[in-house]
Amino acid sequence: MGLHAILQVVFPHRCVGCGHTVAEPSGFCGPCWREAEFITGAACTGCGAPLPGEETDPAALRCDDCLTRPRPWHAGVAALVYAGTGRRFVLGLKHGDRIDLAPVAGRWLARVAGPLIRPDTVIAPVPLHRLRLLRRRYNQSALLARALAVQTGATLCPDLLERPRATPALEGADRDTRFARLDGAIRVTPRHAKHIAGRRVLIVDDVMTSGATLEAAALACHAAGSGEVSIAVLARALPGSGTGRAKATGKQPPIAHRTSGPPADARRGLAPVVPAP
Ligand SMILES: [Zn+2]
Ligand SMILES: [Zn+2]
Repeated sequence: MGLHAILQVVFPHRCVGCGHTVAEPSGFCGPCWREAEFITGAACTGCGAPLPGEETDPAALRCDDCLTRPRPWHAGVAALVYAGTGRRFVLGLKHGDRIDLAPVAGRWLARVAGPLIRPDTVIAPVPLHRLRLLRRRYNQSALLARALAVQTGATLCPDLLERPRATPALEGADRDTRFARLDGAIRVTPRHAKHIAGRRVLIVDDVMTSGATLEAAALACHAAGSGEVSIAVLARALPGSGTGRAKATGKQPPIAHRTSGPPADARRGLAPVVPAP
């Protein structure tokens, strides 16, 4: 019995959707894959929300949310819908019991965010305030940003953004309250401002709900003199229900091709906010 087989007996991979044992650390068992709503068809170019119908002119694809509040970023993508097993996956990553799933999530993110990444792109996670970081021990968005950087070879700056003040939790807050609470709550870490001057930035978060946090992050990058800003989230929480929902495809999404390891400056910057793998 090889080491892998022994580890599988002692620490079997478990489906994050239902808890059943699975052969590979892929996150989901077969039935949960079929339930997960990966966004593979037409999607809003502002936030990645699935849209009904076939893809036509990508520039014209905007959901109601993004039409109502134009986004201060160039493009946005999401890997899955924040519902059902997709929601359970995100919560597992966020609350610590399944941080082993970050590499899987990184592959899903690379599939949707790969086309946004150029040679000068800097990947940066949405930051946690340091008190919340202490309580939670790690920043799930930083895990995702690192996993995406590993998949794509793009430069990672895990502490590009910071929250100088604590903001109340957003759970349960309405849309206007969310935007008001996050207004000016995020800034570029002063010592990193020169590193993003004129460069593209891709901001990574686990979930987009109203987009208030991502808006604060994007505005901070622009204020610091960055180039084009885009956003990539693991899951998009759709407002209301029943409109613009993607069908479950029942297929595992294609895995983005890994070109090379992260550049040296991406590896160097890993220590501050993410635990050792
Ligand atoms: Zn399952
Ligand atoms: Zn949108």
